[in-house]
Amino acid sequence: MQSKIWLSSPHMGGSERKYVNEAFDTNWVAPLGPNVNGLEQDIAEFLKGNHGDIVHVAALSAGTAAIHLGLILLDVKPGDEVICQSMTFSASANPIAYQGATPVFVDSEKDTWNMSPEMLDLAIKDRIAKGKKPKAIIPVHLYGMPAKMKEITAIAQQYEIPILEDAAESLGSHIHGKFCGTFGEIAALSFNGNKIITTSGGGALVAKNAADAEKARFLSTQARDTASHYQHSHIGYNYRMSNICAGIGRGQMEVLTERVQQRRANYNWYTNVLSDTAGIEFLKEPEGYYSNRWLTTVLVKHPSKTREDLRIALEAENIEARPLWKPMHRQPIFKDAPFYGDGTSEKLFNNGLCLPSGSNLTQEEKSRVLEQIKKVLQ
Ligand SMILES: *Cc1c(COP(=O)(O)O)cnc(C)c1O
Repeated sequence: MQSKIWLSSPHMGGSERKYVNEAFDTNWVAPLGPNVNGLEQDIAEFLKGNHGDIVHVAALSAGTAAIHLGLILLDVKPGDEVICQSMTFSASANPIAYQGATPVFVDSEKDTWNMSPEMLDLAIKDRIAKGKKPKAIIPVHLYGMPAKMKEITAIAQQYEIPILEDAAESLGSHIHGKFCGTFGEIAALSFNGNKIITTSGGGALVAKNAADAEKARFLSTQARDTASHYQHSHIGYNYRMSNICAGIGRGQMEVLTERVQQRRANYNWYTNVLSDTAGIEFLKEPEGYYSNRWLTTVLVKHPSKTREDLRIALEAENIEARPLWKPMHRQPIFKDAPFYGDGTSEKLFNNGLCLPSGSNLTQEEKSRVLEQIKKVLQ
């Protein structure tokens, strides 16, 4: 058997060990310390971009924790409704259930595969007509492609509903220079092992208001009131990032721009070498959109071969490829949740595949992937 080719594997830059060693040398082996503060500053500085957006960051144990605390900051309570993009990873929607609220799922559009502004408008109108105004909107930038934030933001403002942006897959992506993670009232980033940069496991809450980031830090460290004894006036969580993980994150932030370029180079390579192969389509960037191309994704539109034919052929050669996210409204656990759509995400799920996309893929590995794709589709 040939060696395994992963969809997306961790790729260290070199300085990670320096920051981790510093943590050991100074005994900051705890969920606080200089690396945690440093990583928060590094992320805020990066997200400023050339737009100069000021954001405030709280480093957490996971992207899922960031979404959960984001919902709490937006005052989502039992019985509330929260609008969520249907085509996404379950971690976008699960925290809605943690709060005892109901997710209302919205379909994708064809240009970015993310939340359809048209369906969003329809959903909000209908939920209001049925008696409940949604408390928040969760758009997702899947695979690094920014959602249609101009249109989504206009609708959110019209109805005065805050946006909680799931930017877990899109660090480094932007629209006309404005970074994903700076559009919403609050945004979530993820540094899980398979993301564009990693802290092994971790995430961050990004907030427009300093007070929200401060409150996230407070809630993520068990909500301890100021007192010499343990005093609590809020329900707290143990969601803070460890100073060891944050050390890895600081090293990774130094190479983030390079990682984006490497992932984009993968996408460009795939599109070039497959430009003459019929039956496979790539997702293009709309004008002004810049995707970090976390994963290169394709639609299989072939007269006789399906997405599964291609995936299974790759698997047989020890190459990991995965169908696109299965929409939440099609998941057994969310089968009773309201859904507004026209079948777009389901079609994408049926025909879509994620190809190996790591920034550390070798030319030899990419050639192995290409060989299999050509074998199946020709
Ligand atoms: C990875 C991911 C998350 C969750 O992040 P974790 O750090 O793994 O908790 C949430 N949403 C999306 C879209 C993701 O891809």
